[in-house]
Amino acid sequence: MRVFLCDHCGHPVFFENVACLHCGSALAFLPDRLALCAIEPVGAEAPGLWQPCGGAPADEPRARYRLCHNHAALQACNFAVNASDVHTLCVSCRLTRLLPDLSVPANHERWYRIEVAKRRLYYTLARLGLVSPSVSSHTLEGPVFEFLADQPGAAPVLTGHSAGVITLNVAEADDDERARRRLALHEPYRTLLGHLRHESGHYYWDRLVLADGHVPAFRDLFGDESADYAQALEAHYARGQPAQWQLQHVSAYATAHPWEDWAETWAHYLHMVDLLETAASYGVKLALPGASPGVPEGVDNPFEAGLSDFDQLVAQWIPVTLLLNSLNRSLGQNDAYPFALSTGALDKLRFVHDLIQAARIRA
Ligand SMILES: [Zn+2]
Ligand SMILES: [Zn+2]
Ligand SMILES: [Zn+2]
Repeated sequence: MRVFLCDHCGHPVFFENVACLHCGSALAFLPDRLALCAIEPVGAEAPGLWQPCGGAPADEPRARYRLCHNHAALQACNFAVNASDVHTLCVSCRLTRLLPDLSVPANHERWYRIEVAKRRLYYTLARLGLVSPSVSSHTLEGPVFEFLADQPGAAPVLTGHSAGVITLNVAEADDDERARRRLALHEPYRTLLGHLRHESGHYYWDRLVLADGHVPAFRDLFGDESADYAQALEAHYARGQPAQWQLQHVSAYATAHPWEDWAETWAHYLHMVDLLETAASYGVKLALPGASPGVPEGVDNPFEAGLSDFDQLVAQWIPVTLLLNSLNRSLGQNDAYPFALSTGALDKLRFVHDLIQAARIRA
């Protein structure tokens, strides 16, 4: 994600912020601009409405917004809603149809953390053209979410996707529980954002592969997805990580079933474009493989470069991840990016890239 600057004082502000920590200006993410902006109340003539502090020419009326109901009532969101929108919830919050019981004190924090990750997912999907923030306010678009807690005596809540609905067990928002599951499953990486990106992959498989007629090409690369899914997952957990999984897969879990392979690859692609946009917006320059020694190249913003060239994306990705891991090691942290991409995995990422690219052009 790109870095945002406070419109009022120019200091960097983070996507999650509701106020600038430097000048105190109120901030909201304006989905129609895909930007975090400083906002001010319109005034007595329009109570409850806000307008951006800067940006519009003097002779144009400034757009007006309300704060998302989840901001005003629960301090859980920083997206704004267009004043003309019939919804009280923002484009991201309205996609959540079931929440955990917020009267349980820990659930509010869990839900907040999950919604933050979901807004980041929303941003990337919007940048990729897969959801449109300017869509008619009556239309729901993108996956629907249910965030649920285990109940005593009931079957545990399973994280997954089914028929357009993404379910997440809110226990994943607890760092200790997520770390426990990560270690138990021998995973190098487990985050809320990673979960949501993965599950959105299942949602978009139905749309970009199945509905768009790409199943034969999918099977050539990922294998036959008609293999029994439940049996495949059971067998995966029984046998553990296959040897040499790296040759064709982005992760060991991707070997469980072709659908999991796709969802893992999809999530990885979203990691790539998001991290590259961050690096580009900080003006990162790196000596890229193949470039003349001593002549660092700027990292391209993949969205502004039109996402056209997958090879260029990968050529920039590798040094950015080396830098990222080196910075982490300098602080005594584990690698933030504990992966290495084989040519087999890159072919699958290219497939995801090509389908997203085709969907963008159509849109
Ligand atoms: Zn400021
Ligand atoms: Zn919201
Ligand atoms: Zn999955």
